[in-house]
Amino acid sequence: MRILGIESSCDETGVAIYDTERGLLGHRLHSQVDLHAAYGGVVPELASRDHIRRLPVLLRELLEHTGLSLAGIDGIAYTAGPGLAGALLVGSSVAEALGVSLGIPALPVHHLEGHLLSPLLSATPPDFPFVALLVSGGHTQLMRVTGVGGYTLLGETVDDAAGEAFDKTAKLIGLGYPGGPALARLAQAGAPGRFKLPRPMLHSKDFDFSFSGLKTAVLTAVGTPGFCEADKADLAAEFQAAAVEVLVAKSMAALRHTGLKQLVVAGGVGANLALRSALDQAALRRKARVFYPELELCTDNGAMIAFAGALRFMAGERGADADGCFAVRPRWNLMDIAAPVGAG
Ligand code: ATP
Ligand code: MG
Ligand code: FE
Repeated sequence: MRILGIESSCDETGVAIYDTERGLLGHRLHSQVDLHAAYGGVVPELASRDHIRRLPVLLRELLEHTGLSLAGIDGIAYTAGPGLAGALLVGSSVAEALGVSLGIPALPVHHLEGHLLSPLLSATPPDFPFVALLVSGGHTQLMRVTGVGGYTLLGETVDDAAGEAFDKTAKLIGLGYPGGPALARLAQAGAPGRFKLPRPMLHSKDFDFSFSGLKTAVLTAVGTPGFCEADKADLAAEFQAAAVEVLVAKSMAALRHTGLKQLVVAGGVGANLALRSALDQAALRRKARVFYPELELCTDNGAMIAFAGALRFMAGERGADADGCFAVRPRWNLMDIAAPVGAG
């Protein structure tokens, strides 16, 4: 089966084709970062308009790149939520319309299921069951995963998401938007420990997180008289060390609690190299293994949506009836989605 994936939940337009026999045949991505940078954050109306402009172009490029025509596609998977309503509607309208015109099914996919399953696209994929650490711009969750749709929440952030904390801290330090990757780069030039930031909820004995206090502590440090340009790298390094320490400790506690030996990391912050190296070392001590998506598939992309959709198509799922068309779900809890029909 050949599945076309469409992602448009926020500020990335992504398309991909996944073949259930041959794997990922190709993907195309357009980031709207430049479009929103001047505003310091994503402007929903601009995002929707840009998805409309880009989607047909990306789709044409993808077909040229893969040498396929639309007639060679057996099904379409699109992000139906969570995300910005107007942005989601662009992807869902294109997907549903294409589905009707081609006479093939269009399947709504949960964006976080896409992130979560993306490490299965890598050369050395994990097997079910595993613990998943989902660290993205909007979510920070630890889950026990028994299969597609088999998600049990162990804990999550009670306030900001990890990626959000990276972005907000970067803004406070003056690194612009979106600051996560820039903050990580600056941290490499600094040393943790000179500034002392809290490790929120490190000893809370549950699997929950809190990142908003960390951001406030950064604000206080930046506002201290004498704080200057030369201090920024050390502050960035301390922020990253604090966030990483809590994420690693809770992930290891989740492995201990579940007795599982595999940890899957997904979402944009999973691209953070300091986090990856700290998780690898901690897992090694527990004789456990950590699995990541390819670096370029950590943040939003169409490949993860094509893949998650393909797994559901393979399990027999066929999309909504006519009433379900265009029913995007801007707010949608991953724990509320079911295993595909036919799955155990
Ligand atoms: P969600 O998936 O929860 O709806 P999202 O789609 O906006 O949110 P992602 O695309 O998964 O989130 O990830 C984007 C986030 O990842 C941003 O907050 C960004 O700053 C962060 N990020 C990307 N690269 C890095 C990095 N190297 N270090 C830290 N954070 C990073
Ligand atoms: Mg994004
Ligand atoms: Fe995302």
